[in-house]
Amino acid sequence: MEGKKELVNDACLMVKAPAKINLTLDVLAKRPDGYHEIEMVMTTIDLADRLTIYPREEDKITLDCTVSYLPLDERNHVYQAARLVKERFGIKHGVHIHIDKHIPIAAGLAGGSSDAAATIKGLNRLWNLGMSVEEMAELGSHVGSDVSFCVYGGTALARGRGEKIERLPSPPSCWVILAKPPIGVSTGEVYGALRIDEGKEERKSAEMIEAIHRGDFTGVCRALGNHLESVTLEMHPQVRQIKERMLRFGADGVLMSGSGPTVFALAERESRMNRIYNGLRGFCKEVYAVRILGENNR
Ligand code: ATP
Repeated sequence: MEGKKELVNDACLMVKAPAKINLTLDVLAKRPDGYHEIEMVMTTIDLADRLTIYPREEDKITLDCTVSYLPLDERNHVYQAARLVKERFGIKHGVHIHIDKHIPIAAGLAGGSSDAAATIKGLNRLWNLGMSVEEMAELGSHVGSDVSFCVYGGTALARGRGEKIERLPSPPSCWVILAKPPIGVSTGEVYGALRIDEGKEERKSAEMIEAIHRGDFTGVCRALGNHLESVTLEMHPQVRQIKERMLRFGADGVLMSGSGPTVFALAERESRMNRIYNGLRGFCKEVYAVRILGENNR
Protein backbone atom coordinates (compact mmCIF):
# COMPACT_ATOMS: atom_id res chain seq x y z
CA MET A 1 0.00 0.00 0.00
CA GLU A 2 1.61 3.21 -1.25
CA GLY A 3 0.62 5.49 1.63
CA LYS A 4 1.83 3.32 4.48
CA LYS A 5 5.49 3.36 3.36
CA GLU A 6 5.95 6.97 4.35
CA LEU A 7 4.48 6.94 7.82
CA VAL A 8 6.13 9.18 10.38
CA ASN A 9 5.86 6.46 13.03
CA ASP A 10 3.54 3.69 14.13
CA ALA A 11 1.25 6.05 16.07
CA CYS A 12 -2.16 5.70 14.49
CA LEU A 13 -5.67 6.49 15.58
CA MET A 14 -8.80 4.40 15.21
CA VAL A 15 -12.25 5.96 14.92
CA LYS A 16 -15.64 4.26 14.68
CA ALA A 17 -18.15 5.56 12.11
CA PRO A 18 -21.64 4.27 12.97
CA ALA A 19 -24.55 4.14 10.51
CA LYS A 20 -27.82 6.00 11.15
CA ILE A 21 -31.44 5.23 10.53
CA ASN A 22 -34.24 7.74 10.02
CA LEU A 23 -37.10 7.35 12.47
CA THR A 24 -38.75 10.20 10.57
CA LEU A 25 -38.05 12.21 7.42
CA ASP A 26 -40.50 15.05 6.79
CA VAL A 27 -39.95 17.16 3.66
CA LEU A 28 -41.40 20.60 4.36
CA ALA A 29 -40.62 22.56 1.19
CA LYS A 30 -38.25 23.00 -1.72
CA ARG A 31 -35.85 25.91 -1.18
CA PRO A 32 -34.70 28.45 -3.75
CA ASP A 33 -31.12 27.06 -3.46
CA GLY A 34 -32.31 23.65 -4.75
CA TYR A 35 -32.12 21.88 -1.38
CA HIS A 36 -35.22 20.73 0.51
CA GLU A 37 -36.24 22.04 3.91
CA ILE A 38 -36.54 18.91 6.03
CA GLU A 39 -37.06 17.65 9.58
CA MET A 40 -35.68 14.26 10.50
CA VAL A 41 -35.31 12.30 13.71
CA MET A 42 -32.25 10.11 13.32
CA THR A 43 -30.45 7.67 15.57
CA THR A 44 -27.11 5.88 15.29
CA ILE A 45 -27.02 2.09 15.28
CA ASP A 46 -24.48 -0.55 16.14
CA LEU A 47 -23.29 -1.11 12.56
CA ALA A 48 -20.12 0.80 11.86
CA ASP A 49 -17.18 1.40 9.53
CA ARG A 50 -13.79 1.66 11.20
CA LEU A 51 -11.22 4.24 10.16
CA THR A 52 -7.52 4.02 10.99
CA ILE A 53 -5.68 7.30 10.57
CA TYR A 54 -1.89 7.24 10.08
CA PRO A 55 0.08 10.49 10.19
CA ARG A 56 2.48 11.05 7.30
CA GLU A 57 5.18 13.63 6.78
CA GLU A 58 4.46 14.35 3.15
CA ASP A 59 1.68 16.90 2.53
CA LYS A 60 -0.63 14.38 0.93
CA ILE A 61 -3.93 12.58 1.68
CA THR A 62 -4.07 8.92 0.67
CA LEU A 63 -6.78 6.32 1.28
CA ASP A 64 -7.25 2.60 1.07
CA CYS A 65 -10.46 0.65 1.62
CA THR A 66 -11.58 -2.93 2.24
CA VAL A 67 -14.03 -2.72 -0.69
CA SER A 68 -12.72 -2.19 -4.21
CA TYR A 69 -15.61 -0.20 -5.70
CA LEU A 70 -15.28 3.06 -3.73
CA PRO A 71 -13.24 5.90 -5.23
CA LEU A 72 -10.08 6.64 -3.22
CA ASP A 73 -9.54 10.19 -4.51
CA GLU A 74 -11.29 13.53 -4.00
CA ARG A 75 -14.66 11.84 -4.72
CA ASN A 76 -14.44 10.00 -1.39
CA HIS A 77 -16.10 11.80 1.54
CA VAL A 78 -13.15 10.86 3.76
CA TYR A 79 -10.75 12.61 1.40
CA GLN A 80 -13.02 15.69 1.23
CA ALA A 81 -13.27 15.88 5.03
CA ALA A 82 -9.49 15.52 5.52
CA ARG A 83 -8.78 18.19 2.88
CA LEU A 84 -11.25 20.55 4.54
CA VAL A 85 -9.63 20.14 7.97
CA LYS A 86 -6.15 20.69 6.48
CA GLU A 87 -7.28 23.82 4.63
CA ARG A 88 -9.16 25.29 7.61
CA PHE A 89 -6.13 24.92 9.92
CA GLY A 90 -3.32 25.35 7.37
CA ILE A 91 -1.86 21.91 8.19
CA LYS A 92 1.19 21.20 6.07
CA HIS A 93 1.58 17.46 6.64
CA GLY A 94 -0.56 14.58 5.49
CA VAL A 95 -2.43 11.44 6.48
CA HIS A 96 -3.10 7.98 5.22
CA ILE A 97 -6.60 6.71 6.12
CA HIS A 98 -7.63 3.05 5.99
CA ILE A 99 -11.42 2.54 5.66
CA ASP A 100 -12.73 -0.77 6.99
CA LYS A 101 -16.16 -0.72 5.33
CA HIS A 102 -19.13 -2.50 6.94
CA ILE A 103 -22.01 -0.09 6.22
CA PRO A 104 -23.75 -0.86 2.90
CA ILE A 105 -23.06 1.84 0.30
CA ALA A 106 -25.75 4.12 -1.22
CA ALA A 107 -28.20 2.50 1.18
CA GLY A 108 -29.81 5.39 3.11
CA LEU A 109 -27.60 4.67 6.14
CA ALA A 110 -25.22 7.65 5.76
CA GLY A 111 -22.11 5.50 5.45
CA GLY A 112 -20.12 8.13 3.55
CA SER A 113 -21.30 10.93 5.84
CA SER A 114 -20.37 8.97 8.95
CA ASP A 115 -16.91 8.25 7.51
CA ALA A 116 -16.48 11.99 6.89
CA ALA A 117 -17.58 12.81 10.45
CA ALA A 118 -15.18 10.22 11.88
CA THR A 119 -12.36 11.73 9.80
CA ILE A 120 -13.00 15.20 11.22
CA LYS A 121 -13.19 13.85 14.79
CA GLY A 122 -10.06 11.75 14.30
CA LEU A 123 -7.99 14.58 12.81
CA ASN A 124 -9.20 16.94 15.55
CA ARG A 125 -7.56 14.55 18.03
CA LEU A 126 -4.51 13.66 15.96
CA TRP A 127 -3.55 17.27 15.33
CA ASN A 128 -4.83 18.69 18.68
CA LEU A 129 -7.04 21.22 16.92
CA GLY A 130 -9.38 21.81 19.86
CA MET A 131 -12.57 21.97 17.77
CA SER A 132 -15.85 21.70 19.70
CA VAL A 133 -18.60 19.33 18.55
CA GLU A 134 -20.46 22.35 17.14
CA GLU A 135 -17.38 23.48 15.17
CA MET A 136 -16.80 19.98 13.80
CA ALA A 137 -20.47 19.71 12.80
CA GLU A 138 -20.30 23.08 11.01
CA LEU A 139 -17.16 22.01 9.14
CA GLY A 140 -18.77 18.69 8.25
CA SER A 141 -21.84 20.38 6.76
CA HIS A 142 -19.59 21.50 3.87
CA VAL A 143 -18.99 17.84 2.94
CA GLY A 144 -22.64 16.75 3.08
CA SER A 145 -25.97 17.41 4.77
CA ASP A 146 -25.87 14.34 7.04
CA VAL A 147 -22.29 14.86 8.26
CA SER A 148 -23.31 17.29 11.03
CA PHE A 149 -25.65 14.71 12.57
CA CYS A 150 -22.94 12.05 12.31
CA VAL A 151 -20.51 14.28 14.24
CA TYR A 152 -23.01 14.39 17.15
CA GLY A 153 -24.17 10.76 16.90
CA GLY A 154 -26.77 9.40 19.33
CA THR A 155 -30.32 10.53 18.63
CA ALA A 156 -31.21 13.98 17.32
CA LEU A 157 -33.62 16.14 15.36
CA ALA A 158 -32.01 17.50 12.19
CA ARG A 159 -33.56 20.53 10.50
CA GLY A 160 -32.74 22.91 7.65
CA ARG A 161 -31.16 20.77 4.94
CA GLY A 162 -30.12 18.43 7.76
CA GLU A 163 -27.32 20.51 9.29
CA LYS A 164 -29.17 22.09 12.26
CA ILE A 165 -28.97 19.58 15.08
CA GLU A 166 -30.89 19.34 18.37
CA ARG A 167 -29.95 16.44 20.61
CA LEU A 168 -32.64 14.07 21.86
CA PRO A 169 -32.63 11.26 24.42
CA SER A 170 -32.21 7.71 23.09
CA PRO A 171 -35.40 5.90 22.06
CA PRO A 172 -36.43 2.90 24.20
CA SER A 173 -33.99 0.03 23.81
CA CYS A 174 -34.92 -2.34 20.95
CA TRP A 175 -33.60 -4.46 18.11
CA VAL A 176 -33.19 -3.05 14.61
CA ILE A 177 -33.28 -5.52 11.73
CA LEU A 178 -31.98 -4.04 8.47
CA ALA A 179 -32.48 -5.47 4.99
CA LYS A 180 -30.93 -3.96 1.90
CA PRO A 181 -32.08 -5.14 -1.54
CA PRO A 182 -29.29 -5.42 -4.15
CA ILE A 183 -29.82 -1.93 -5.61
CA GLY A 184 -28.19 1.42 -4.94
CA VAL A 185 -30.39 4.49 -4.71
CA SER A 186 -29.33 8.01 -5.66
CA THR A 187 -30.55 10.48 -3.03
CA GLY A 188 -30.64 13.26 -5.65
CA GLU A 189 -32.81 11.19 -7.97
CA VAL A 190 -35.32 10.42 -5.20
CA TYR A 191 -35.61 14.06 -4.14
CA GLY A 192 -35.90 14.99 -7.84
CA ALA A 193 -38.92 12.70 -8.28
CA LEU A 194 -40.64 13.87 -5.06
CA ARG A 195 -43.87 15.85 -5.49
CA ILE A 196 -44.33 18.05 -2.45
CA ASP A 197 -47.90 18.47 -1.30
CA GLU A 198 -47.02 21.25 1.11
CA GLY A 199 -49.01 20.93 4.30
CA LYS A 200 -50.91 17.86 3.06
CA GLU A 201 -48.37 15.13 3.82
CA GLU A 202 -48.55 14.08 7.46
CA ARG A 203 -45.48 15.19 9.45
CA LYS A 204 -44.30 12.74 12.07
CA SER A 205 -41.25 14.34 13.72
CA ALA A 206 -43.13 16.13 16.56
CA GLU A 207 -45.04 12.93 17.42
CA MET A 208 -41.77 10.94 17.34
CA ILE A 209 -40.02 13.40 19.67
CA GLU A 210 -42.90 13.16 22.16
CA ALA A 211 -42.84 9.36 22.06
CA ILE A 212 -39.06 9.37 22.64
CA HIS A 213 -39.41 11.74 25.61
CA ARG A 214 -42.12 9.46 27.09
CA GLY A 215 -39.90 6.37 26.53
CA ASP A 216 -42.89 4.88 24.70
CA PHE A 217 -41.78 2.09 22.33
CA THR A 218 -45.27 1.60 20.83
CA GLY A 219 -45.51 5.35 20.30
CA VAL A 220 -42.12 5.34 18.52
CA CYS A 221 -43.34 2.57 16.19
CA ARG A 222 -46.56 4.48 15.51
CA ALA A 223 -44.67 7.71 14.73
CA LEU A 224 -42.33 6.19 12.12
CA GLY A 225 -42.66 8.06 8.82
CA ASN A 226 -40.65 8.97 5.72
CA HIS A 227 -41.90 11.23 2.92
CA LEU A 228 -39.35 9.75 0.49
CA GLU A 229 -40.60 6.19 0.98
CA SER A 230 -43.40 6.29 -1.61
CA VAL A 231 -40.98 7.65 -4.25
CA THR A 232 -38.44 4.85 -3.75
CA LEU A 233 -41.22 2.24 -3.45
CA GLU A 234 -42.44 3.24 -6.89
CA MET A 235 -38.95 2.93 -8.38
CA HIS A 236 -38.06 -0.33 -6.60
CA PRO A 237 -40.96 -2.71 -5.76
CA GLN A 238 -38.56 -4.95 -3.75
CA VAL A 239 -38.64 -2.31 -1.00
CA ARG A 240 -42.38 -2.87 -0.51
CA GLN A 241 -41.90 -6.66 -0.51
CA ILE A 242 -39.31 -6.37 2.26
CA LYS A 243 -41.62 -4.17 4.34
CA GLU A 244 -44.49 -6.62 3.95
CA ARG A 245 -42.30 -9.57 4.85
CA MET A 246 -40.97 -7.84 7.98
CA LEU A 247 -44.50 -7.11 9.17
CA ARG A 248 -45.56 -10.70 8.44
CA PHE A 249 -42.70 -11.98 10.63
CA GLY A 250 -43.82 -9.84 13.57
CA ALA A 251 -42.08 -6.44 13.29
CA ASP A 252 -43.43 -3.85 15.72
CA GLY A 253 -42.72 -1.10 13.18
CA VAL A 254 -41.09 -0.88 9.72
CA LEU A 255 -39.73 2.00 7.64
CA MET A 256 -37.34 2.76 4.82
CA SER A 257 -34.29 4.73 5.99
CA GLY A 258 -33.34 8.00 4.23
CA SER A 259 -33.79 7.75 0.48
CA GLY A 260 -33.48 3.95 0.76
CA PRO A 261 -33.37 1.28 -0.35
CA THR A 262 -32.58 -0.15 3.13
CA VAL A 263 -35.68 -1.02 5.16
CA PHE A 264 -35.54 -1.53 8.92
CA ALA A 265 -37.84 -3.27 11.37
CA LEU A 266 -38.02 -2.47 15.08
CA ALA A 267 -38.57 -5.34 17.51
CA GLU A 268 -38.75 -5.11 21.29
CA ARG A 269 -38.31 -8.84 21.92
CA GLU A 270 -35.29 -10.94 20.93
CA SER A 271 -37.52 -13.83 19.79
CA ARG A 272 -39.21 -11.54 17.26
CA MET A 273 -35.84 -10.18 16.13
CA ASN A 274 -34.72 -13.75 15.42
CA ARG A 275 -37.92 -14.53 13.51
CA ILE A 276 -37.64 -11.42 11.35
CA TYR A 277 -33.89 -11.89 10.77
CA ASN A 278 -34.32 -15.53 9.73
CA GLY A 279 -37.39 -14.70 7.64
CA LEU A 280 -35.44 -12.12 5.65
CA ARG A 281 -32.25 -14.13 5.07
CA GLY A 282 -32.54 -16.05 1.84
CA PHE A 283 -35.00 -13.42 0.59
CA CYS A 284 -32.43 -10.64 0.85
CA LYS A 285 -28.63 -11.06 0.80
CA GLU A 286 -27.76 -8.20 3.13
CA VAL A 287 -29.56 -8.55 6.46
CA TYR A 288 -28.30 -7.27 9.83
CA ALA A 289 -29.66 -7.37 13.37
CA VAL A 290 -28.25 -4.56 15.54
CA ARG A 291 -29.19 -2.28 18.45
CA ILE A 292 -29.73 1.45 18.67
CA LEU A 293 -26.61 3.00 20.22
CA GLY A 294 -27.40 4.46 23.64
CA GLU A 295 -26.19 7.92 24.58
CA ASN A 296 -23.25 6.58 26.56
CA ASN A 297 -22.17 4.26 23.79
CA ARG A 298 -21.59 6.54 20.82
P1 ATP B 1 -27.25 9.21 2.96
O1 ATP B 1 -28.12 8.37 3.84
O2 ATP B 1 -26.45 10.27 3.73
O3 ATP B 1 -27.93 9.78 1.76
P2 ATP B 1 -26.22 6.84 1.73
O4 ATP B 1 -26.11 5.80 2.80
O5 ATP B 1 -27.46 6.78 0.90
O6 ATP B 1 -26.08 8.27 2.40
P3 ATP B 1 -23.47 6.56 1.00
O7 ATP B 1 -23.18 5.15 1.41
O8 ATP B 1 -22.92 7.63 1.87
O9 ATP B 1 -25.03 6.77 0.77
O10 ATP B 1 -22.94 6.70 -0.50
C1 ATP B 1 -23.43 7.68 -1.38
C2 ATP B 1 -22.39 7.93 -2.47
O11 ATP B 1 -21.22 8.48 -1.89
C3 ATP B 1 -21.97 6.66 -3.20
O12 ATP B 1 -22.22 6.84 -4.57
C4 ATP B 1 -20.47 6.53 -2.95
O13 ATP B 1 -19.73 6.19 -4.12
C5 ATP B 1 -20.04 7.91 -2.46
N1 ATP B 1 -19.00 7.84 -1.40
C6 ATP B 1 -17.93 8.63 -1.32
N2 ATP B 1 -17.19 8.32 -0.23
C7 ATP B 1 -17.81 7.31 0.40
C8 ATP B 1 -17.51 6.57 1.58
N3 ATP B 1 -16.42 6.79 2.33
N4 ATP B 1 -18.39 5.60 1.93
C9 ATP B 1 -19.51 5.38 1.19
N5 ATP B 1 -19.81 6.04 0.06
C10 ATP B 1 -18.98 7.00 -0.34
